Amino acid sequence: MAIIEIIADPGTRLHLGGPGLAALRECFFPGDCQSCNRPLGGRPPALSVSVLSPGHAMARLYHPACVPPQWNDSGLIEVAPGPGTVSRSARCWLFPAAGAPGPVYLPALLVNPGFESVFLREGPDGWRPVLPEWFSAAGMLPGAAGSPLPGVRSAIDGGIASVVFPASPNPYSAPAEPVTLARARELGGFLILVSQVVDPAALSPASATPVLQRAFSAGQIISGWASLDS
Ligand SMILES: [Zn+2]
Repeated sequence: MAIIEIIADPGTRLHLGGPGLAALRECFFPGDCQSCNRPLGGRPPALSVSVLSPGHAMARLYHPACVPPQWNDSGLIEVAPGPGTVSRSARCWLFPAAGAPGPVYLPALLVNPGFESVFLREGPDGWRPVLPEWFSAAGMLPGAAGSPLPGVRSAIDGGIASVVFPASPNPYSAPAEPVTLARARELGGFLILVSQVVDPAALSPASATPVLQRAFSAGQIISGWASLDS
């Protein structure tokens, strides 16, 4: 479940406005402080936003005692007292894609690339959360169409499915059932789904469909097809 309450300073509230803050709140999940790397715990975390360049910013969560809530547009990169690690989550399963006469089951790898660290971009409606650019640069598009991603490769290693984006600092991987891996080998790849508003590992078979449908209809999931390394 996303974090409901975060502490934002007046400057951040002014810059983001109510809709910007609400959209950002949907993207944060309880992970670790981006300074001391210990769990954020049950108390509301502090939101610190650094403007990286005009129209581009990074929002991170901290313990209020580690880094205070702030809007930093000084042009100086924020230096936290310690190196926090961004939490990621992924899930691999057979995704029921729409088909005729019934659903077609595709091997899918759903990724949330960051629980406590979210990029922001300023557009006509103000500041809004955006996914890291390496996903759109690879050709991922909103929806579940799964257009081919020419430069992106997926792989199977034992019972683990993974995908590597050329410009991403990290591979994304998740354990998978043999039936899912067999389907991936049959079709020659994985449907890659990326969203910041879903915790893939927290989805259950019962909750997955309504949660994903809501995110798809809100345009909060992008997709692409990553061929399997042979
Ligand atoms: Zn901390």
